[in-house]
Amino acid sequence: MENNHVTVLEIDLNSIEYNFNYFKSKLHQNTKLLAVVKAFGYGSDATEIAKFLESKVDYFAVAYLDEGIALRNVGIKTPILVLHPQKVNLEKIIKYNLEPNIYSVNLLTAFIEIAKKNSLQNYPAHIKFNTGLNRLGFTYKDINQLSSLLKDQNEVEVRSIFSHIAASEDLNEKEFTLHQINSFKLIAEEFISQLNYTPFKHMLNTSGIINYAQEAQFDMVRLGIGLYGFGNDEKETNKLKNAITLKSVISQIHTIEKGESVGYNRAFKASSIIKTATIPVGHADGISRQLGKGVGYIYIHNQKAPIIGNVCMDMIMVNVTDINCNEGDEVIIYKNQEHIESLAKSINTISYELLTAISQRVKRVLKKC
Ligand SMILES: *Cc1c(COP(=O)(O)O)cnc(C)c1O
Repeated sequence: MENNHVTVLEIDLNSIEYNFNYFKSKLHQNTKLLAVVKAFGYGSDATEIAKFLESKVDYFAVAYLDEGIALRNVGIKTPILVLHPQKVNLEKIIKYNLEPNIYSVNLLTAFIEIAKKNSLQNYPAHIKFNTGLNRLGFTYKDINQLSSLLKDQNEVEVRSIFSHIAASEDLNEKEFTLHQINSFKLIAEEFISQLNYTPFKHMLNTSGIINYAQEAQFDMVRLGIGLYGFGNDEKETNKLKNAITLKSVISQIHTIEKGESVGYNRAFKASSIIKTATIPVGHADGISRQLGKGVGYIYIHNQKAPIIGNVCMDMIMVNVTDINCNEGDEVIIYKNQEHIESLAKSINTISYELLTAISQRVKRVLKKC
């Protein structure tokens, strides 16, 4: 189906490349780089980002099977780590040459069984250890059982072992993070001594690279939001280039008389005469309803236009009383990282949630000069 919506998400590939190089420059020359393109590439366009980065990265990661299949279907040949495979999908993981994160005895047993059934040899799998996030993964006390399941078989090979930091962006939690890093080192040492080969190791996400590249770089890092232009704070974000711009156009302009209301539930009532613009983007496109009633704002001709009343499914109305604008003029719904961070903050969330909420209805447009 052709997408001819006028609301578009512009993805700047030059900025993605710049951000990629920025993080690369923080790493040792031989540290491998995995680009995380889960959730449609943080709401952008996973297949386009992957095609663009394929020659530069060592690995991709996605969260779920179908995200990995989408990459294979556009011809991506790079190894792809599936961070959260489900037992019911293991056959397909193999069929599409994807590499599962194995985080439990249950999953490992099932995977070895399927690998045997398919007569695989040294099929790569990645073993995840829980060092404090308490989300997925084995712990130190699982090592003996893990090793005994893995030895005496050559269908599955542990390609890497990894862990994930709970608060890599928060230096107030540095002590806890260093403890996680140390636990991972102890686990790695013990586990590798029981295997008779050495998988590679990785632990850092974007803010991990920013804060712990000395302590926990290991053999690979997993770069996610940084690629898309966001660091762990304003200072770091300022070093990155904006890659994501959400744009639209004014559909209609109204004059609202004093006492009239705007939108559903009459959530806005004019206390004086005002001018509004209706924009074709709504909560079905990913604009949180919490940004209504004056909380969020967009940019029109570089001036702030607050959202008034409730966000509708397909539209928002903004106050343009003091802005010289016309029907058909361009508007910027998400201007840059600073704008997205400020909107996220005003509704108690983080940039990740605003980005990944941008729905598939919004047309994606690639920019590259
Ligand atoms: C999402 C994810 C990442 C990437 O995190 P960013 O903060 O976006 O860099 C890395 N590792 C795992 C396990 C993840 O789930």
